[in-house]
Amino acid sequence: MNIQETETLYTSGLYTKRPIAIVKGEGARLWDADGKEYIDCVGGQGAGNLGHANKAVAEALYQQALTIISCPEMFYNDRRAALLEKLISIAPAGLTHAYLCNSGTEAVEAALKFARLKTARKEIVAMMRGFHGRTMGALSATWEKKYREPFEPLIPGFKHVAYNDLAALDAAVTDQTAAVILEVVQGEGGVRPGTAEFLLGAQKLCQARGALLIVDEVQTGFGRTGQMFASQHYGLQPDLLCLAKSIAGGVPMGAALFGERVGQLPSQVHGSTFGGNPLACAASLAAITYIEEQHLVDRSAELGAWFLARLQRIKSPLIREVRGLGLMVGIELKQKVTPYLQALMAQGVLALPAGLTVMRFLPPLVINQEQLSIVADTVEAILNQPVKDDN
Ligand SMILES: *Cc1c(COP(=O)(O)O)cnc(C)c1O
Repeated sequence: MNIQETETLYTSGLYTKRPIAIVKGEGARLWDADGKEYIDCVGGQGAGNLGHANKAVAEALYQQALTIISCPEMFYNDRRAALLEKLISIAPAGLTHAYLCNSGTEAVEAALKFARLKTARKEIVAMMRGFHGRTMGALSATWEKKYREPFEPLIPGFKHVAYNDLAALDAAVTDQTAAVILEVVQGEGGVRPGTAEFLLGAQKLCQARGALLIVDEVQTGFGRTGQMFASQHYGLQPDLLCLAKSIAGGVPMGAALFGERVGQLPSQVHGSTFGGNPLACAASLAAITYIEEQHLVDRSAELGAWFLARLQRIKSPLIREVRGLGLMVGIELKQKVTPYLQALMAQGVLALPAGLTVMRFLPPLVINQEQLSIVADTVEAILNQPVKDDN
């Protein structure tokens, strides 16, 4: 059996697969098992900001694996201490402590639990089109019906309001609201940037009503939008900040950062076996250092602005809107996006959907302008020719 046949036979079946087997990567390039080369704008769905086969991360992993991998948080550890210090030093103002975990959904789960614990309130206000993960708490904050409905009843006390609608948020936040949870740019929901007025308004509302502001930067963190964290575009100061995806150069890790409005957490109320393991901490330290030394945040801002403007110049009757922030860019089509993603793949460009109609680009931040130019030319061509709809 070949790779695809073996995987198909034994996999969970939960994922819609594309018919290629990716076996190698370097920077913003990927190769399939037949040796065909692609420009990667999937970027590990946001976990690949540093580019594939990053030597700094590989070297840190190798050295740490030879030193110590397992060290639960019942002990102190040198790599963990160094990472915590680093994370807090780059975080938006006001965040002083971090809980380390292993994924985005776990970071959200922790933030929701901490908010309930600290406010002694039960309700959470989340956003329409928001995405926060698949475990029961994070799923309760997630909007999309197809993820939620098969698993109901979910956690009670979650409301959803229209994103960027401050009046709706004002009406929803009460003296029973533990937290408001939102993304700075909605990712899975269609690459929709929040307005400064809405985001800062949400922060003010939370402070006035004794609720906590949870900002989910799992996808927007670590340079993706042209700031280290998207909150920093607006001077937004989350009470809780959820991180994962590119936090450790593609190695599984998550974190929930918090500040003085959360304060000290009682010992034993939450935890994780793998959380804060030295292997992930070493990878994360190497990843953050690499982002800083290679100026990937500025690169994301500059290349992102160029790419967005280039895509906005594409004339095609299929396009509804092109939007984005930094190297997080979406093209909303007037029809379903899948056949166009397939056509792009055939031309050697890998991109993501965001919902049914949005084509999403999350290239590694090490991508260069020449590669982005090829991507834009290819998109322009496929949006101006008939494509076959296999679905
Ligand atoms: C991907 C994502 C998550 C979930 O992260 P996992 O690591 O897949 O659990 C949560 N929030 C946002 C904004 C995401 O993009």
